[in-house]
Amino acid sequence: MKRFYDICKQHHLKITPQRVAVYEAVSDSAIHPSADLIHKRVRETFPNISLDTVNRTLLTFADVGIIDIVEGQGDARRFDPNLDEHHHLYCLGCNTIVDFYDETLNQIKISKAIKEKYTIVSKRVYLKGFCENCSKQA
Ligand SMILES: [Zn+2]
Ligand SMILES: [Zn+2]
Repeated sequence: MKRFYDICKQHHLKITPQRVAVYEAVSDSAIHPSADLIHKRVRETFPNISLDTVNRTLLTFADVGIIDIVEGQGDARRFDPNLDEHHHLYCLGCNTIVDFYDETLNQIKISKAIKEKYTIVSKRVYLKGFCENCSKQA
């Protein structure tokens, strides 16, 4: 939460109760929620808040580096409060995106050819498969 306040201050973002609620809804969720899901959560406290407002708030947060955007599989954008170096497993069973940490994957080197062509700012391995729960059920 401290990081949230710090970054807001740095970027002169007004800390409104709505913004705090949106941030809390993202960071309380371990599943990389979509704006829709966050909207449902925040509406429990702020019944009048619109999906559009929630969406814009999330994009502002992503802009200033409070959260990260996870590119979905053609579905809605998902948001990620975890800014530590980590990787993602996308579960084909329950649609969850699970964070995982792996030193071997962290060590993956970006080839010279790619570095010459692009400017790389971060690196994340994206696996597709089934999460622990769904694997057990199969
Ligand atoms: Zn699953
Ligand atoms: Zn993540």
